Amino acid sequence: MNSPLPYLDPALPVSERVADLIGRMTLPEKVGQMLQLSGMDGVDHLVRELHVGSILHTSPERIDEANALVSQTRLGIPLLVAEDCIHGHSFWKGATIYPTQLGMAATWDPELVERVARATAVEVAATGIHWTFSPVLCITRDLRWGRVSETFGEDPFLIGELASAMVRGYQGEGLTDPTAILATAKHFAGYSETQGGRDASEADLSRRKLRSWFLPPFERVAREGCRSFMLGYQSIDGVPITVNDWLLNDVLRGEWGYTGTLVTDWDNVGRMVWEQLVCADYTEAAAKAVRAGNDVVMTTPQFFEGALQAVAEGTLDEAEIDAAVRRVLTLKFELGLFENPRHPDPERQAAVVGSAAHAELNLEVARRSLVLLRNDGTLPLDGGYTAGADGRAVAGDGAAPRTVALIGPSIDDPHTQLGDWAGASGQTDWLLPDGHPREMTETVLDGFRAVAPEGWTVTHAKGAEILTVGPDPEGEFFPDGQPRPDVVIPAEPDEALIAEAVAAAEAADHVVAVVGDRIELVGESRSTATLELVGAQVALLDALAATGKPLVVVLLSSKPLVLPPSALNAAAVVYAFNPGMRGGRALAELLLGLIEPTGRLPLSFARHAGQQPTYYNQVRGQHGTRYADLTQSPAFAFGEGLSYTTVEYRDLEVLTPVLEADDTVRARVTLANTGERPALETVQIYVSDTVTSVTWAAKELKGYRQVRLAPGQTTTVALELAAADCTLVDAAGNRVVEPGAFELLVGPSSRDEALLRAGFAIKG
Ligand code: BGC
Repeated sequence: MNSPLPYLDPALPVSERVADLIGRMTLPEKVGQMLQLSGMDGVDHLVRELHVGSILHTSPERIDEANALVSQTRLGIPLLVAEDCIHGHSFWKGATIYPTQLGMAATWDPELVERVARATAVEVAATGIHWTFSPVLCITRDLRWGRVSETFGEDPFLIGELASAMVRGYQGEGLTDPTAILATAKHFAGYSETQGGRDASEADLSRRKLRSWFLPPFERVAREGCRSFMLGYQSIDGVPITVNDWLLNDVLRGEWGYTGTLVTDWDNVGRMVWEQLVCADYTEAAAKAVRAGNDVVMTTPQFFEGALQAVAEGTLDEAEIDAAVRRVLTLKFELGLFENPRHPDPERQAAVVGSAAHAELNLEVARRSLVLLRNDGTLPLDGGYTAGADGRAVAGDGAAPRTVALIGPSIDDPHTQLGDWAGASGQTDWLLPDGHPREMTETVLDGFRAVAPEGWTVTHAKGAEILTVGPDPEGEFFPDGQPRPDVVIPAEPDEALIAEAVAAAEAADHVVAVVGDRIELVGESRSTATLELVGAQVALLDALAATGKPLVVVLLSSKPLVLPPSALNAAAVVYAFNPGMRGGRALAELLLGLIEPTGRLPLSFARHAGQQPTYYNQVRGQHGTRYADLTQSPAFAFGEGLSYTTVEYRDLEVLTPVLEADDTVRARVTLANTGERPALETVQIYVSDTVTSVTWAAKELKGYRQVRLAPGQTTTVALELAAADCTLVDAAGNRVVEPGAFELLVGPSSRDEALLRAGFAIKG
């Protein structure tokens, strides 16, 4: 028997297999390995002519077709198949769609988020996909940005905790685990520092500002082994990130020792030619992209000819391409794809995609993601119910059956529940034009029907339209041929719809209005200039408020919106983000008191779009504390969220008032549940550095603990924090602890008035 070619011999070290394989490859085959192209228009040309190393956005049939084509190629190098599986297996029919990343962030629970990522990986891996473009580590700064729902919110520490958990979940036990998928930290780095909330504009960021807030979450997952990084669309200081030598080579690969894969964002290489106009042609762009250290070039087919031409002209050395190809092939060998290409497995799909266990986990995370922002005691309805064995609320003997009116444009809208990057959200409409199977999503209406006590009447009225859409006056396509999203035309109030809603409210015992945004107002190229509730929703809320009935307002929206007085003064307000397939049920359970509200805001709400940015950890030194015409205080602040009980904080005590820089700050605080229902309290730990050599944030989240408290229970919570974490970034850009006085701030949210304070000092 002939011995296998060295690169096919699993007994050899990966480096030898890579060297052998590269030695056999032609230049076009090497360039092809660097390409990742969309399978939307077919895969034949990609595999046969462009020797493509990776595909994305492709249908189940085309994955099979591409794999078959690859097996007939000269060297049979397996494909890497990638997809944006960012809150579940987004575009796979029948997959489990969880709350958006922002919704998950409201749980503040890394362990739960890790379980979601693990379950997602299990579904994704069964479908022949090896790589997800998740998690997003961008920091939300301007709420007008269209991609807020993809983030974990506004705080670098919380983002780091949750992103790290998500990466662990995706990558499982390591790359050889057949249920592991590659995680991607994106969008490296500073993409969210938009101007005016506009998508992918120049990010006005100094290196110090990057190091202060934007880079730390990325550094954490780089050091923890996240296997790929995606480079954002934006430029910084005039340099597109894709070719930003300082970020990619000095910081990421140099300082942090990152050895993983770098993938560009969608056509970043082409954009340097046709959008940013910093390269004269694709030959120049290809040479620059390779030289900067990119490994995988997403959806720039012209890179193929461009790179070949650059080598022919001598502006790019083949050895530079070899370096990137070596990294791509190493990844494929490390995944074991030459031995097991992990093709789609229909049997396994039947067992795991959309499984009952994942639906249960989805309900758990949806429950934990809901944030109660206001409550005058109206919630839980009627003082709360308990769940029977079937999950339905049980009313006590003799309790009169109630009528609950569900009102608003979002009471029964599956797309809004799933949010962006799911089903028919716009990225791959050709795959799932009608979205996910309707029966998999429980809307608020479905949820109430499923869990309201037997005998209750659930009425409903739409009350208002949000919007219609029309063609973009600037044309159907962007210069690169991608379709432009339709523009939004806000709906006008409709007196008949409002009258019907008011009548339903007046006839009901309980009134729940479900308002928010819609997918047309969310996502790439869909930033919003305003933050108000769009269309006829404010008129509807005003009319409902005027009935005098206690009004429960539920916000189903991708991002924090500016609430009108009729909502801000409502009896209760619940923020639900895009809560995923089980979200409607979780909401019904919450309103009926079958579960407790435990979510906490991962970002602040503005009172007006003109208040941007509203994030809590702003730098000290501003003149004054308010606008002439408006407060600067957010409507709801980072970390806020109510329970159905009250929890008091007292007796914060630092046990280590003076410590060395390598010591641990130890403190304790007493919590008392003074109400009649249990609580899951998120005890937040902020640090304020009293005097700093450079201006710095007034306070920063450094840790938190989630503590369960039974009704009436008092407990002492031990808090710990490494003194080494009490850092700032000095004028030279170094992260340091500056000895001196600090304050520990502990409480239920980032609001100053909610925090207890105690001093400590770090010795020099
Ligand atoms: C987005 C990325 C995404 C990629 C592939 C881009 O437009 O910015 O977040 O992963 O498309 O779909």
